[in-house]
Amino acid sequence: MVANETIKKKGWRRLVLFIAVILSTCFFLTACSDEEIQDSAELVIGIIGEILEAANETTEPTPTDTSHESIPAHTDDVTVNVNGNMEVHFIDVGQSDATLFIHNGKVMLFDVAMASRGDELVEYIQNLGITYIDVVVITHPHDDHAGGAAELLNCENIEVGILYAPDFIELMESETDTPGWYDDMVDAIDCIDAERNEGIPEEKQTSIWHFPRNENGEFAKFNIGDAVVEFLAPLEDEYSDKNDYSICAKITYGNIDIMMTGDATSSVERTLINEGYDLDVEIFQSSHHGSDTGNSREFLDAMTPECIVISCGMKNRYSHPIKSVMDLFKELDLPVYRTDESGNVIMTTDGTNYSFNVEPGTYTSGAEYKAQGD
Ligand SMILES: [Zn+2]
Repeated sequence: MVANETIKKKGWRRLVLFIAVILSTCFFLTACSDEEIQDSAELVIGIIGEILEAANETTEPTPTDTSHESIPAHTDDVTVNVNGNMEVHFIDVGQSDATLFIHNGKVMLFDVAMASRGDELVEYIQNLGITYIDVVVITHPHDDHAGGAAELLNCENIEVGILYAPDFIELMESETDTPGWYDDMVDAIDCIDAERNEGIPEEKQTSIWHFPRNENGEFAKFNIGDAVVEFLAPLEDEYSDKNDYSICAKITYGNIDIMMTGDATSSVERTLINEGYDLDVEIFQSSHHGSDTGNSREFLDAMTPECIVISCGMKNRYSHPIKSVMDLFKELDLPVYRTDESGNVIMTTDGTNYSFNVEPGTYTSGAEYKAQGD
């Protein structure tokens, strides 16, 4: 309870006690028989009860009716169970990212596609029958990860519980020409916040937008069903490269771990190693669409993944994935699943084994695809 509320309640209690003493004195002074004394006592108790009820009504706001138990921000109170299958959908949204984690009716969406593919993302989610997304993560402020936010947040048929994104507000607001997707995202967030905070005292109002670390600097850790999601980065407040703001996360279900690093570069990869995290995973979503800005050998050595997923668009203008990275994956004998070659890549795991809906793709780089022409 907020301090103000406690003070208000204490004030009410003192007032009630004071009234009770006055009433009792009056009634007992005027009462003649035992019966009258008993009647007076009952009357006093009744009046006190009514005053207390009124006090409670005044100080306790009616909780908002929600059919979904929202996932609390920042908690270490996670459960570790294995029950049924977890699905991870690396959705084909061209040269952008959107990955759905689904377990036991709980849903996390990790990045929201580029603005021009936002409608496709929303359609994909709706086709799965999903109407509530517990957690949306926006790794960093680039269109190909954050652009579809407004389309998703404004969708009437899908509700979002919590949105996690790094604190890039000041960074974006300092730009002379803020991108349209950012303005639209902020408008959508303001709209949801206004709706949820209606009738709630200002000091108790909250925002759907949460930062990956709380005021004590602790990273969020929470359940999506029985899967455990642990944020590992960003570790700094400011970076010169927007890609390095990327929220990095390890998602664990049973014995299967997945590493998501957005577009973080090798310098962040080094920081993750230096932090002493347990980086061992089975599946790694290649950072930055298979770019050589990340996916360093030392990071791969630290993670020892068994396979790689790359989300990228065929013949994209950045020539992702980069040849040196594909050569490294090949050298390390890592099967590569790619959305440009296979479309939607879906991984299913029971916590012990995992399988993909498609066969591994080739080690062909973006440049080689481009050279092949149409
Ligand atoms: Zn990207």
